[in-house]
Amino acid sequence: MSDRLPGFSTLAVHAGAQPDPTTGARATPIYQTTSFVFNDADHAASLFGLQAFGNIYTRIGNPTNAVLEERVAALEGGTAALAVASGHAAQVVILQQLLQPGDEFIAARKLYGGSINQFTHAFKSFGWNVVWADPDDIASFERAVTPRTKAIFIESIANPGGSITDIEAISTVASKAGVPLIVDNTLASPYLIRPIDHGADIVVHSLTKFLGGHGNSLGGIIVDAGTFDWSTGGKYPMLSEPRPEYHGIRLQETFGNFAFAIACRVLGLRDLGPALSPFNAFMILTGIETLPLRMQKHCDNAKAVAEFLAGHPAVASVSYAGLASDKYNQLARKYAPKGAGAVFTFSLKGGYDAGVNLVSKLQLFSHLANVGDTRSLVIHPASTTHSQLDDAAKVKSGAGPDVVRLSIGIEDKEDLIADLEQALGA
Ligand SMILES: *Cc1c(COP(=O)(O)O)cnc(C)c1O
Repeated sequence: MSDRLPGFSTLAVHAGAQPDPTTGARATPIYQTTSFVFNDADHAASLFGLQAFGNIYTRIGNPTNAVLEERVAALEGGTAALAVASGHAAQVVILQQLLQPGDEFIAARKLYGGSINQFTHAFKSFGWNVVWADPDDIASFERAVTPRTKAIFIESIANPGGSITDIEAISTVASKAGVPLIVDNTLASPYLIRPIDHGADIVVHSLTKFLGGHGNSLGGIIVDAGTFDWSTGGKYPMLSEPRPEYHGIRLQETFGNFAFAIACRVLGLRDLGPALSPFNAFMILTGIETLPLRMQKHCDNAKAVAEFLAGHPAVASVSYAGLASDKYNQLARKYAPKGAGAVFTFSLKGGYDAGVNLVSKLQLFSHLANVGDTRSLVIHPASTTHSQLDDAAKVKSGAGPDVVRLSIGIEDKEDLIADLEQALGA
């Protein structure tokens, strides 16, 4: 072997995986088992006391899932990762390590609709308070910081309008406030943007979308950048204080630059329980092997479709950062030079009714609530994913009544354009 560091496409195929030591199986086997036999009593005790790494029970870890974790950590440039059952489960597990009841976190207002819901309503019952900031106004993050702020949460490419977030500017605010920056990198995938290179401390994904990539399996993952010092000022007791459930060990002191990933596993996943099925881990691993090829095709198709729509007389505006005329094009050139992703919105001159009409006329596009499938998808956010917001909040989050969201797949772009043309013209 040369001492060359493997490139992204090589990591996408190989990182974390070896031929199975007992059978020689080359594809990662699905270890469809709940539990693992201990070597002896001492081995069992050391696993339970966190003195040794190994498999105990699939709620806490599984060898198929471990390959997925190592692969995504490598692709994102983190120290370790933890796979869980869904993107939303990942968000709960992350914040459980960071917030005590009564604490706050700052979140960008432009987010996946489900995250807006989860942060606003579900987290209230845990005593975690979200404070909203505007990703187009960095000072709004600074103004939102209080002594109870424990984290900042943003999306790299933001739902639903595909806007690009200035990760470095917000990372500076987070550093000054002494809190970690969490970046939801679902819409970009590490092929387009690696948030850790721009100052993120924690990266989170819905694996359900581009990483799995085929619309067949739910999953989520948390990547620890290994950059944050959790020991300062007693602000993060889950990481810095002795843990009674593990004989009083302090996670930061014991596990150093992957303590956050360990906390998510041994305090979050173990006790909250949203384990990823090894079968789903296998499906997602298979998807990741072609991530670079798919993602480039997604982006190239999206750009062609966005250009077509921008020139169509029925279209009022297109919000796609890959267009030279777009407000976010400068940020796209900086953060996502290979392409601005494949999820974006456009608005129709005919308003709400025209949006509903278009969705009903499209044939190749599937009308459903997902993104990041090989298939092209369409939805009207104002009546679905963002329907819980009032009108002003809909507009602020990029989901006004006239807005249609597309997730462009990997079909032939000519066919996608022809489908849009017939639906717009009819
Ligand atoms: C889908 C999605 C989520 C939630 O993930 P699930 O796997 O559906 O729980 C979070 N963030 C973004 C940006 C998403 O697209």
